[in-house]
Amino acid sequence: MMQSINPATNELLAEFDTWDQATLDEMVTQAGYGFADWSKLTPLSDRIALLNRLGDVLLDDKEVLAELITLEMGKRYAEAVAEIEKCAWLCDYYAENAERFLADEMIETDASKSYVAYLPLGVVLGVMPWNFPFWQALRFAVPTVTAGNIGLLKHASNVPQCALAIEEVFRKAGYPDGVFTTLMIGSDKVESVIRHPAVKAVSLTGSEPAGRKVASVAGEELKKSVLELGGSDAFIVLDNADIQTAVENAVKGRFMNMGQSCIASKRFIVDAGIIDDFIERFKTAVESQFEAGDPMESDATLAPMARQDLLDELHQQVTKSVEMGAKIVTGGYQLDRPGCYYAPTILTDVTSNMPAFSEEFFGPVAIVLKATEPAHALGLANATDFGLGGSIWSNDSATAETMARGMESGATFVNSITFSDPRMPFGGIKHSGYGRELSGQGIREFTNIKSIWIK
Ligand code: NDP
Repeated sequence: MMQSINPATNELLAEFDTWDQATLDEMVTQAGYGFADWSKLTPLSDRIALLNRLGDVLLDDKEVLAELITLEMGKRYAEAVAEIEKCAWLCDYYAENAERFLADEMIETDASKSYVAYLPLGVVLGVMPWNFPFWQALRFAVPTVTAGNIGLLKHASNVPQCALAIEEVFRKAGYPDGVFTTLMIGSDKVESVIRHPAVKAVSLTGSEPAGRKVASVAGEELKKSVLELGGSDAFIVLDNADIQTAVENAVKGRFMNMGQSCIASKRFIVDAGIIDDFIERFKTAVESQFEAGDPMESDATLAPMARQDLLDELHQQVTKSVEMGAKIVTGGYQLDRPGCYYAPTILTDVTSNMPAFSEEFFGPVAIVLKATEPAHALGLANATDFGLGGSIWSNDSATAETMARGMESGATFVNSITFSDPRMPFGGIKHSGYGRELSGQGIREFTNIKSIWIK
């Protein structure tokens, strides 16, 4: 049974039966049968026309879809609308560029003709999270399906209405049945889908333990996997940065989506000369900007977290760090009102043995660390198992760029918070995962990069 619960009120919105094993196996088998038609008989130009329609359906239905997101996982309605608009941009982007990304690449060799072809693999499973329930799922599905693969979505169990709505958006756009299917299953059945002979590859966005499990099953089956896991992104502020700009972006980078983003700014590494000023301004901004309320209402600036268990886990990480000596500048508690509201929190005096130093904090808690010089700041930034994104704030762009190249991450931004953009590859290194989504690299992840050589 999957439950859709409004985290702003804890009200049960809907319940859905999950599929039994026989139903699941049959759906995956059928998905495999659909591959030949879709990949070989539906030309790329037709797939692109469908993609254009998918973008139109998303925009036509954006209010309804955004409301569903807000009701199911709690983000502010304005953020939910922006999420749907970004999905439409993704469709436009691949509609404009897929032909170029998937074109044969001629290569001069001793052959009369030799080239690289990007051919689809077959059925690809996406295991997706709840934090951006449309964006994460479509970031996987749009390039994968446009490349000629069949897409299966196992969405997070707390967003079943979004999961079904995504399938419906594909249907409304006119995609043939079976090209994209939502599987109504819990995580316990993911292994059987990966092992199914029709399934050729898997993409997971989510936590490190889920990534390890999925990757190990895919490894045993010798099937390709792409993992986009957590992050603990550094936000380095050098002494020559515009401190007010840095503070305004620190608030945005940490508290957008209530901090529940893999590429949120999580560890604020600030030069010793300006750290007191930074903390004072950060505290003032955080305490003045957030007002809890119904996330459907435009005056609510503090939304709930997506689930009570996620809030409890975050609070435990805060409590343990405080017991070990961290100081709370502001926040550090659940609000006394119905729903999963956590006070925006800033922690200082964090040392390397604390959860606040080494673990991902997936919610509205900022961790501030002191650096004595740029090299120390970079050392602290890299002193984590994660390697997803990061940002550097400085008026000296040459130094910042050198540091950006030295940061162990899949992306580093200078004087901007990290964000995903369809035009740039997205993904991590170290425990943040491997493989890339978006851009040309993303659409080629689930292709057979095939050499053709003709004498
Ligand atoms: P999970 O990683 O548990 O969930 C993400 C997806 O993976 C869901 O579809 C989930 O299914 C599935 N899943 C979970 N465990 C397994 C497994 N053993 N085998 C196969 N699939 C699995 O995230 P949570 O919702 O529990 O969030 C907890 C933490 O995950 C956060 O604190 C954060 O660190 C990280 N996270 C990272 C995200 C990112 O964008 N990188 C997004 C969301 C979470 P089901 O829902 O049915 O359990």
